[in-house]
Amino acid sequence: MKLEVGKHAGFCFGVKRAIQVAFDSGEKYSGVVRTLGPIIHNPQVVQELEAAGIAVAQNLEEIPTDTGMVIIRSHGVGPQIYESANARNLALVDATCPFVKKIHSIVAQMDDEGYDIVVLGEADHPEVIGICAYVTNGRVFVIDEPEKIRDIRLGRKVALLAQTTQETRQFSALLAILGEKNNCEIRSFNTICDATGVRQQEAIRLAQQSDIVIIVGGKKSANTTRLAAICQEIQPSTYHVETVHELDAAWFTGKTRAGITAGASTPESEINKVVAWVQAIGQ
Ligand code: SF4
Repeated sequence: MKLEVGKHAGFCFGVKRAIQVAFDSGEKYSGVVRTLGPIIHNPQVVQELEAAGIAVAQNLEEIPTDTGMVIIRSHGVGPQIYESANARNLALVDATCPFVKKIHSIVAQMDDEGYDIVVLGEADHPEVIGICAYVTNGRVFVIDEPEKIRDIRLGRKVALLAQTTQETRQFSALLAILGEKNNCEIRSFNTICDATGVRQQEAIRLAQQSDIVIIVGGKKSANTTRLAAICQEIQPSTYHVETVHELDAAWFTGKTRAGITAGASTPESEINKVVAWVQAIGQ
């Protein structure tokens, strides 16, 4: 069986940086260090951090006042979290990805200028919750499917943005529907990050060229589940596994070309285990 592993599979710049920041902070800081929510949507990495003494806090109240440190993960948070951390006298290390920071500043500016904000994304995802928190004057709408925008009465000025892990074709579809509205000024900011775009393009090519595709990564990871969904549309024999233990030899019966890729929050060690397993049964 021929096997191709995506060149871009695994950690993106923002995730690498956040994990490094977390480990470094744990080493240098003598007080209690906590990440606000899991640093990435990958249970294996979260366990490694816990072993290094950096556990997950679900909210700031779980971190000791005055002596504790909070690490903000790459998804970012709203301004109220910085204020609350300050009020509790917590040390704060900000590992928000710069691409997400950029979205925060665009949203704050557009909100100040009186635009309704439309975000293509998942309303309950931490990145989107953080983005929406920068709308303090006007209105924000989160849309997970372009067609849903038709049900919303928007104002005359609309700013469109996307969660960094969305699909470009969905963003284009949403922009096209907004463009049908008359008397509406639209500012469009395609904030899907390059790391996402590159991984999605590679996944599409792998799905087109393979008769089985394995996507490796956390089941709660937005970018990984999106990769799996994109590949599934093209190649129905697409399987999303979090660890090597979920693989099933029966999936590979009669297959001649396998493709493997992984989300931006998947550790290289987990990808390598999956690759080794597939290589072993393909010999
Ligand atoms: S997926 Fe993009 S926005 Fe998200 S952490 Fe990685 S580089 Fe940053």
